[in-house]
Amino acid sequence: MKAVRIHEHGGVDKLRYEEVQEPKLSSPTEAIVQLKTAALNRIDLWNREGLTGMDIALPHILGADGAGIVAQVGEQVHNVKKGDAVCLYPPSGCGQCEYCFTDREFMCIRLRALGERLQGTYAEYVKLPAANCFPIPPGLSFEEAAAFPLVFLTVWRMLVTNAELKPGEHVLILGIGGGVATAALQIARHMGAHIFVTSSSDEKLELAKNWGANHGINYLRSDFAKEVRALTGKRGVDVVVDCVGGESWVKSLAALARGGRLVTCGATAGANPQTDIRRIFWNHLKIFGSTLGSREEFRQLLAFMQISKVRPIVDQIFSLKDVAAAQRRLEEGKQFGKIVLQIAE
Ligand SMILES: [Zn+2]
Repeated sequence: MKAVRIHEHGGVDKLRYEEVQEPKLSSPTEAIVQLKTAALNRIDLWNREGLTGMDIALPHILGADGAGIVAQVGEQVHNVKKGDAVCLYPPSGCGQCEYCFTDREFMCIRLRALGERLQGTYAEYVKLPAANCFPIPPGLSFEEAAAFPLVFLTVWRMLVTNAELKPGEHVLILGIGGGVATAALQIARHMGAHIFVTSSSDEKLELAKNWGANHGINYLRSDFAKEVRALTGKRGVDVVVDCVGGESWVKSLAALARGGRLVTCGATAGANPQTDIRRIFWNHLKIFGSTLGSREEFRQLLAFMQISKVRPIVDQIFSLKDVAAAQRRLEEGKQFGKIVLQIAE
């Protein structure tokens, strides 16, 4: 089969489109999926560069998100069958630790995720536990079905489970354009929140308004915390989605109303910001860190997508062999929504 592998860590020049042996079932509970599409995530860039601190056996196929048709299942598989159109739940736990026992296998101490300890989705076929295959919600294209799982699951846990976002609440989403931020915009919008977004690009702020954001703030021109306070009668917002970190962190805390909640799943602008701890306790703030989400949260998300008709925003579609150009677009932060790889028609 054709796949994109890295043989060593480094830049986009390390991505090799090449002939690779097809995966074979090695357990009766596995499935093999013929992928139609895959989607890019920032974790792909970190894995390519070797920045996660995780030992990945090389050569390695990247890619945490994908969608396709079940090609083969083990004899003990009952949830899907050959020919089913499926999207993929990315993490897989050991099944033997306290987190796996309690439907928190995404917190498993021996976590294996697609594109990390499992071979990923930049390939014509992927092998994974069949329990990670879920029917694609009706009406979603294969492009959309690959684009949503990782970021929408992450956002679902952040906004719904952790922040307990309520209709009518005010939400601030930093750095609109990326996969997590655009998913947060779509879910928060559908839940009836009042939404502020930030970006350094006026074009992205305009696009965000088209997708339902109420206010766009260009953080190069103004202090977004001050602007949010001004726009909320000095009160501040109920929830901040900050996957940026760095200098934004202090402002994110300053933008929160008393009792506000901050959710984070990334630190692209820096991981060691200054924090005034007094602001956290005096203002009764809650800070939630998370990545991914549980199978139950994924199930809730699929039901939500089916009923709400919310669809992930697809930025651009590249063919698998053009993955370097696709990753460069992500690296340069040019996208609005998800970057998708077309693997088969
Ligand atoms: Zn485990």
